Amino acid sequence: MADFDVDLFVIGAGSGGTRAARISAGHGARVMIAEEDRIGGTCVIRGCVPKKLFVYASRFADEFEDAAGFGWSVGTPSFDWPTLRDAVANEVTRLSGLYRKGLEGAKVAIREERAVVEGPNTVRLQKSGETIRARHILVATGGYPAFDPPISGGELGISSNEIFHLPSLPRRMLVVGGGYIALEFASVFRRLGVEVTVLHRGDNILRGFEEDLRVRLRDALVHAGITLRLGCTIDRIEQLPDGTRRAHCATGEPIDADVVLVATGRRPNTVGLGLENAGVKLGPIGQVMVDANSASSVPSIHAVGDVTNRINLTPVAIREGHAFADSAFGGKPWAMDHHVVASAVFTTPEIGTVGLTEQQAFAAGYELRVFEAGFRPMKATISGRQERIYMKLVVDAKTDRMLGVHILGHDAGEIIQAVAIAVTMGATKADFDRTVALHPSAAEELVTMRTVRQ
Ligand code: NDP
Repeated sequence: MADFDVDLFVIGAGSGGTRAARISAGHGARVMIAEEDRIGGTCVIRGCVPKKLFVYASRFADEFEDAAGFGWSVGTPSFDWPTLRDAVANEVTRLSGLYRKGLEGAKVAIREERAVVEGPNTVRLQKSGETIRARHILVATGGYPAFDPPISGGELGISSNEIFHLPSLPRRMLVVGGGYIALEFASVFRRLGVEVTVLHRGDNILRGFEEDLRVRLRDALVHAGITLRLGCTIDRIEQLPDGTRRAHCATGEPIDADVVLVATGRRPNTVGLGLENAGVKLGPIGQVMVDANSASSVPSIHAVGDVTNRINLTPVAIREGHAFADSAFGGKPWAMDHHVVASAVFTTPEIGTVGLTEQQAFAAGYELRVFEAGFRPMKATISGRQERIYMKLVVDAKTDRMLGVHILGHDAGEIIQAVAIAVTMGATKADFDRTVALHPSAAEELVTMRTVRQ
């Protein structure tokens, strides 16, 4: 042990790396962490947190409209982009500071520069040239927005990294992609008053999600005023003399916009990290190949979070980091169970989902009982808003176990987090049925569905 400068060197101070560093230090390990960008990682700095604050901002647009039916006069609302942008940036700075304090409080040594792997137990800090010998190395470098394969003129577009810092609110925005990031920002910017077009190569958005939610969300986005161009692959982007970005698709008319957001997926951050030199096996998109314990092909090197491209969600990275720390330094080995992981898409309306979709369950050979409910939320009766909530329960007909729950509508994310406890515990439909409804709420429908869909 005396050979090593530290017990653990963590590369990347995002959600997974920070958790692993703090917990390991709490178990008595000597820990050093390196971060080349701002402490906090994608989620805190340029992902979930600022995005959700934007989502809150965008939803006031609906609230102002809805208020009238309830007797309020709010005049003509106006929106000031710099106020939102700067307030969100300040909050991000505050949170990044809290992450730093957490690390310092746990006595983790912080190095704010890029670290590369030089061998199974060696890391080099690129700016200072310092070489650190570490008993364990944890790679927690996350991912980056991919323009892959490269789009001709792609440099005229921006990624989700830049969207938080736009100098002004564009009049027209083109969003390329039909996944989480594309749709969340399309939804946000539409409500902030921007003309939004979504260009997606598939015949519907959100591939892999429950079909009945995909169709209803697609319709709701169109109803909100978003132009959807489906079945269109982007070909190239050019800049017109007045600065307009013109996107050409394989089919159909070109689309003009002031900002083009390219949200065609993310890739693991392993380029130039030196992992191959240490013998770490990488997958086809550069992800670190790991086993259930987050161990790479090199015993002293582990990896957690998006860099492993398992389930690319913050709470998953945190849990993987925690499991690694307890296992390596706490004498309490455990592994994250990736089977039941709830997630939300923060569009408006939002999606909350846990477990198998009907299509996945069917493909897995289950005999199914499916329950569904579609209804107008109570608030919409007076606000007059044209909206509906949709819920689906996917049940194993043989065991009565709840295989999946899928919700589209207000607070779907909040609701599904609580439902996920029941699904994780292995709840049956009978458990849902004997749960007393909470009235009046939208979520009560989850425990009052009685009729199997034919
Ligand atoms: P996604 O994988 O969700 O979506 C990528 C989209 O881009 C898909 O619609 C995909 O189409 C399309 N696409 C991919 N390659 C190309 C291409 N070459 N040309 C045209 N279109 C292409 O990735 P995101 O970037 O939206 O998000 C990355 C990850 O971040 C998510 O998977 C999620 O794990 C996480 N995330 C989670 C959020 C949340 O929990 N609310 C929010 C934001 C991100 P196709 O379907 O045809 O492949």
